[in-house]
Amino acid sequence: MAKATSNGARKLIVGNWKMNPTSAEDAKKIFRQIAAKVAPSKKVITVICPPAVYLAPLAQVKKNVVLGTQDIFYEREGAFTGFISASMVKNFGVEYIIVGHSERRKAGLPAGQAGETDELINLKVKAVLKEGLKVILCVGEVEHDENGHYLTVIKKQLEAGLAGVPKNFFANVIIAHEPIWAIGAAAKGADTPENFQHNKLFIRKILSGIAGKKIALAAPVLYGGSVGVKNAESFLTEGDADGLLIGRTSLVPEDFVQIIKIANC
Ligand code: PEP
Repeated sequence: MAKATSNGARKLIVGNWKMNPTSAEDAKKIFRQIAAKVAPSKKVITVICPPAVYLAPLAQVKKNVVLGTQDIFYEREGAFTGFISASMVKNFGVEYIIVGHSERRKAGLPAGQAGETDELINLKVKAVLKEGLKVILCVGEVEHDENGHYLTVIKKQLEAGLAGVPKNFFANVIIAHEPIWAIGAAAKGADTPENFQHNKLFIRKILSGIAGKKIALAAPVLYGGSVGVKNAESFLTEGDADGLLIGRTSLVPEDFVQIIKIANC
């Protein structure tokens, strides 16, 4: 059974649809199938981050599901071809914005990734918070080494990503630890709940250095990377995750709904 989060807040179950599905009709279908099964809850907040072009149709669906997006640009408006701002997505009821996903941090072809630096990510984090929205800052290492060198990667991403964020904005900061080696269909599998618990403590320690102990203890820390129906409970219980960031499985309504049910227990 999944207990309340260590900070007493509701668990966050976040679906990142990435660049899926290919039609608005399919997006509505999947969203409706999920929304139909999500009841109001004092224990869980369900967030779906579809491609931004589907925000308008999905915002029309009556639901207990909150909308999020997968990225924004840090400027509010202007001559920035192809970008969208936090204030624009806010118009569609978006409450959560993912920033710094590993697929955006990664540079180059063949996948055409954006090669986002910590500095750019920091500007985006501040833009989201300034707009009064919640930011899900993703951090994660390419490789997990037994000597713990990967922790320096996480530390740098946290310190640079949150540089200059005023303390009174931290109530809207959520951290997602997403080990890159555990993400996606080609991954060797999920991390272990034990490792996540250890990493969560480390993340809280770094946050304490950035913003103080009280803020660090209150900040939700999510796990992401190959979460499915079979391992969701163990991350929420043994791993003490404050929530989950879910890719592939968030596009499979029955499985995603099952995970929401598990988080509600
Ligand atoms: C992700 O991309 O954020 C993710 C966790 O993907 P998956 O669940 O498919 O590994």
